[in-house]
Amino acid sequence: MRLEWERVLAKRVAAFRACTRTDFSQLPCPPGTIHFTGGAPPVECLPAETISDALVRAWHAEPTALWYDETDGYEGLRVAIADRMRQRGARVDPGQVLITQGAQQAIDLVARLLLEPGDRVVVEGPTYFGALQVFEPYDVAIEAVPLDEAGVVLDRLEDAFRREPRPKLFYTVPTFQNPAGVTLSAERRSAVVQLAARYGVPIVEDDPYGELWYEAPPPPPLRAYWEEVLFIGTFSKTLAPGLRLGWLVAPPRLMKPLIDAKEAADIQSDRLLQRAVAAVVTSPWYEAHLRAARAEYAERCRLLADALSHELGELARWSLPGGGFFLWVTLTGEVDAATLLPRCAEAGVTYVPGSEFYPEHRPSPSLRLGFTTLGRDELLRGAERLGRALRRLLTEARPT
Ligand code: PMP
Repeated sequence: MRLEWERVLAKRVAAFRACTRTDFSQLPCPPGTIHFTGGAPPVECLPAETISDALVRAWHAEPTALWYDETDGYEGLRVAIADRMRQRGARVDPGQVLITQGAQQAIDLVARLLLEPGDRVVVEGPTYFGALQVFEPYDVAIEAVPLDEAGVVLDRLEDAFRREPRPKLFYTVPTFQNPAGVTLSAERRSAVVQLAARYGVPIVEDDPYGELWYEAPPPPPLRAYWEEVLFIGTFSKTLAPGLRLGWLVAPPRLMKPLIDAKEAADIQSDRLLQRAVAAVVTSPWYEAHLRAARAEYAERCRLLADALSHELGELARWSLPGGGFFLWVTLTGEVDAATLLPRCAEAGVTYVPGSEFYPEHRPSPSLRLGFTTLGRDELLRGAERLGRALRRLLTEARPT
C-alpha cells in the first residue's frame, strides 16, 4: 500500500528546487559537449595530496578529533580565518567565527535565524541561485536590486531599504560576483554600509571569490566597514568544494543561536578535516597555491574573453571581471538565453541562462560562462561553438 505523500508533505516543499531550473541532463548534448556551467577549481588544481598528508598528520596527532565536539569549529581554524580576514582589513575575533559545511550552510543558518513568512529579502539582480534556493521556501518576498559596473545601484538599494516592512536582510556578493563578475567599488562599499545602518537592514556578505583576484586585490570586505555585517567565506574555491568547509562571521548577539542552529542541523563539521585545513592554510604552500590559482584563472578568463570577442563581436557585450570564476555575457536584442540553450547544446556547448539568477526567473538575454574547469583548448573550441551557434540563432531570431 502506498502512503498519500501529497497530503503530508510540508507546504514549503513546493518551493524547493534543484540547483538550477534547467535540467542539464535533458539537453540534447552530443558526446564531447563543452560545458561552461562549472563553478569549481579544475581537477588538476585540486590539492588532493596536500590535504591527504595533512589529514594523516592530524589523525596521528589527535585521534580524538574523530569524536563529537566543537560545534562552533576547531579553534586553530577559527584563529587562522580571523588572521586572514584581518589581513584583508576586517578585525574579527575568532569567537565570532562559526565553521560551516561550506558557504551554502552559512546562508541556510542565517535564513533560519532571521526569516519568517511574509518577510522581505533584498538581493542583487542577478544573484547567486543557491541563495534563492535557500530563501524561497521561507515564503518571503525576494526583491532584486540591479547592478551596474560598480556593483549594486545605490538609489535603488535605498528605495528597497526605505519601504515598509523593512527588509530582514540584504544578501550580497560584493566581490567578483556570481554570476555577473562585478565588484562593488570602495566608495559604494561605505555607502552601502551607511544605508544598511541607517535603515536597520542586516547585510549578509557572501565572499567565495575575494582571494581569487587577477591583477590586484579587491577593496576590503564590507565586514571591514561595519562590524554588524554577517560575512560568509569558504574553502570551496581556494581549495576544493568537496571538502564542504566554510565559515560565518557574525555579531556576538547571534553566535549562540547560530551555534544552536548548527548543532540542530548537523552537530559539527568534520573535525579532522578542520585540523588538516588549518595546517594547510597557515603553511607557505597555501600562498604559493593561491598565487598559481590567480594566474591560472586570469589567463583562462582572458583567453575566453579574447576568443568571444573574435567569435561574437557586436552580438554580445560583457566586461572583464577582476577575479573570480565567471564571465557574464549579455546578448544584444530581445532574446532569452534559456530558449537558445537547447539549440546551443545540440551544437555541443552549454551555459547557465541568466533567468536562473533572478528571483522571478524572467527571461534574460544574459548567460553565465564559467571558465575555470575548462582547459585552454576547450575554452577556444567552446567559444568557437558558442559563437557559431549564437550567431546563427540570433540571425534567425531577427525580424527580416
Ligand atoms: N555563494 C556563492 C556566491 C557561490 O558562488 C557558491 C558556490 N557556487 C556558494 C555560495 C556555495 O559555496 P560552498 O561550496 O562553500 O557551499
